[in-house]
Amino acid sequence: MAPRSRRQKHKKLPSVTPMAVIPPTVVSPVPCTLSKPDPSIDALGFFSLDNNVPGLSELILQKLNMKSYEEYKSVVDGGIPLTGFGFRSPQEMFQRMEDTFRFCAHCKTLPSGLLDSKVLRHCKRCRNVYYCDTECQRSDWPAHRKVCQELRLVAVDRVLEWLLVTGDFILPSGPWAWPSEDIQDWDSWFSMRGLQLEATLDAVLGSHAMTTLWASVGRPRPEPEVLHGSLKRLMTDALSRPLTLGLGLRALEIDVGKTGGSTLHVVGASHVETFFIRAGDYNELGYMFPEHLGFHVIMVGVDVAAGFLQSTSASPLEPGTIQLSGHRGLYHDFWEEQVETGHLTRPDLVAAFHPGFHASPNLMEAWLPTLLLLRDYGIPTLITVYSQQELAASLQILVNLDTHVIAYGANPFTSLKPEQVYSNPNKQPVYCSAYYIIFLGSSSCQLEKKQLEEKIDDGCSVAEPDSN
Ligand SMILES: [Zn+2]
Ligand SMILES: [Zn+2]
Repeated sequence: MAPRSRRQKHKKLPSVTPMAVIPPTVVSPVPCTLSKPDPSIDALGFFSLDNNVPGLSELILQKLNMKSYEEYKSVVDGGIPLTGFGFRSPQEMFQRMEDTFRFCAHCKTLPSGLLDSKVLRHCKRCRNVYYCDTECQRSDWPAHRKVCQELRLVAVDRVLEWLLVTGDFILPSGPWAWPSEDIQDWDSWFSMRGLQLEATLDAVLGSHAMTTLWASVGRPRPEPEVLHGSLKRLMTDALSRPLTLGLGLRALEIDVGKTGGSTLHVVGASHVETFFIRAGDYNELGYMFPEHLGFHVIMVGVDVAAGFLQSTSASPLEPGTIQLSGHRGLYHDFWEEQVETGHLTRPDLVAAFHPGFHASPNLMEAWLPTLLLLRDYGIPTLITVYSQQELAASLQILVNLDTHVIAYGANPFTSLKPEQVYSNPNKQPVYCSAYYIIFLGSSSCQLEKKQLEEKIDDGCSVAEPDSN
């Protein structure tokens, strides 16, 4: 029997991401109100850039030689090659990318709004914000000084990220040399990877690709230790999601020794999770559970990248293999079509990275049916958020929804790469999946279970929810 909430249809599964630019991807932090009927969530984020800096979305499209968000999106989805947009060289592409950051951090003026002789100049320390003139820079300093140091890292990471895209920086991989229980955070993970990791980083630092990259970008190459630190941050960023899934499996003591494999759903997945995904990206999850009998990771969301869509196989997995697949659509429809029909098994764990339902009533409305579904079916669920403030707000919502929160706190496998809030660069940078919350079923259900221990045995977890 389906919970009533499952029948509520919703328009979208949102994903809200702070600024993360992997050329030529631009995503923004704040959802805005619907401007067109049923646009994608990513489109909402994109146009919300204009809330802080009027005209910014237009500037980005113009600099990237694109006419519309749809065109931009199809590049991001891999539908149109970047060369189709007339970039003659990597230099030009990097220049254009950098130009999309060119607006005055203080008064928000875009280059087109400047008087003829003026140009926007960057802050010499971080090279990551721009100003009309020294007056704007001076007035901005009290705010900017708090983030200048961190934004300097952002500027380096943004360049080096390109090496992941081109495949010149391949993450070190292979079975863990230490027992899994000894790896509880990044420090122990880095120690475990040890010499192999250092050799990989040294090779990247000394590579031709690294030299070419900085020549293309047209700015001085930072010191080796700065680049070294950046590569490590990028690594944590790439591996944060698989290891955070592992954190959830650990916390809930989920049996990964199931014949046929375990199933994990990533809900509200967008092109951020799926565009650059490679077959081996979730291998680290496998190394975390060397005894596993297969992981099936299914990304479900309306903005799953087109290139990633694969039909989801229901056949059992070979022990030790990891299968990634994508499903474009709403989680509810997916559940109804695939899980409810028995075509796919129920997930052992569901994760939502930065669902952002605390951020606005629109997003809450969008997520509510999914949250209720997960609660009512008693599906182990992990969500992540960017900050402590978001953690508090999200916890409050989950408690109000009567979910049974099992654990929450700082994520030992958070991304260590700072994310600039694109259209508001002086806002404190945030970190992906910095905090997590795990819930399982409903809390009143747990209570009832205790109270009516012997009398009731008929599936608390699929009970009709209170009307809402
Ligand atoms: Zn200004
Ligand atoms: Zn600065």
